[in-house]
Amino acid sequence: MTSAKANLLDYDRQGLRDLFAQLGEKPYRAEQVMKWIYHRHVTDFAQMTDVGAALRDKLEAAVEIVPPKTLFEKQAADATYKWLLGMDGSNAIEAVFIPEATRGTLCVSSQIGCGLNCQFCSTGTQGFNRNLSTAEIIGQVWVAAKHLGNVPHHQRKLTNVVMMGMGEPLLNFDNVVRAMSLMRDDLGFGLANKRVTLSTAGLVPMIDKLSESSDVSLAVSLHAPNDELRTELVPLNRKYPIAELLAACQRYAARRPRTTITFEYTMLKGINDLPQHARELIKLMRKLPSKVNLIPFNTFTGTRFERSDETTIRSFQKTLLDAGVLTMVRRTRGDDIDAACGQLKGQVVDRTRRNAEFQRRIELGARNAA
Ligand code: SAH
Repeated sequence: MTSAKANLLDYDRQGLRDLFAQLGEKPYRAEQVMKWIYHRHVTDFAQMTDVGAALRDKLEAAVEIVPPKTLFEKQAADATYKWLLGMDGSNAIEAVFIPEATRGTLCVSSQIGCGLNCQFCSTGTQGFNRNLSTAEIIGQVWVAAKHLGNVPHHQRKLTNVVMMGMGEPLLNFDNVVRAMSLMRDDLGFGLANKRVTLSTAGLVPMIDKLSESSDVSLAVSLHAPNDELRTELVPLNRKYPIAELLAACQRYAARRPRTTITFEYTMLKGINDLPQHARELIKLMRKLPSKVNLIPFNTFTGTRFERSDETTIRSFQKTLLDAGVLTMVRRTRGDDIDAACGQLKGQVVDRTRRNAEFQRRIELGARNAA
């Protein structure tokens, strides 16, 4: 049964002010309620003690605050935490919290499944169901913040959010931008602009749109230094080839003088990890303020890829560093609970039949190998 009530998690500050005005209330009341939701993790209007009783009753009757339902949670040996969150009767997505000495990063999903079919990503094999609503996106941060006892500006456990979970955030533009605004709002989670990162497989027109409407850090999933290889790994490259993608990144950076764009590069053994690839990559990276994040490939059932050797990754990194390209190797976290990059699966009711096709390929592979 779908509820007819508006879910307050679907509104950013301005939207909430407008909603309260429609209810015949002073807009600043909306801000009081935001604090209860995002700073104190309260969803029950009765507990909002500085909101008058009459308004509490009115809100109770007209609207609701409904975060996603936690289906299960799991902690990895390295303290990485993963939530499986139910989004409706049949679908679930995953959010992952990665604690480090000086920061806590939450990896957030933007869609149920993904339509882009990147060859080395397990979410890609599952097909696509639908976009997440604003409430379902910000709700992931809410669930984690509540679990961690996070209080913006006081007891800060959650310092960074990366839109690097399931889905392509730029294909769910409005909901993602609204949710990212709540992440950065002082009455929301109060994160600094640069601590909210949107990662994209490279939707060029949407990068330009983002550049105009939101001020967040940009990460781009590059994974290959030439079009032939990138099209094979990231089929979206056929539509938006590398030159166009980098031009959009240059435009994004040009509007933000101190920004650096992160290029993600999953290290796939024998595929994109050769010295010639490093040399090609250096040429591309010289064109704009960039840093490279090398991600050791995380495996999943049925994949044809393997992780590059540690020594290969280190020498690839060294080649880039020696050429003056800032390059990090992302430490793999949470892989014992399948919480590492590209391993998030959730439960996706596939509406593209990609899942069935993937299963068929696995079975064919197994038969051929037998
Ligand atoms: N669609 C967006 C958001 C997903 S981000 C994007 O493509 O950027 C997830 C990041 O992890 C991306 O850089 C993705 O390419 C990378 N990734 C996907 N599968 C992976 C795997 N199996 N091992 C390591 N990294 C992977």
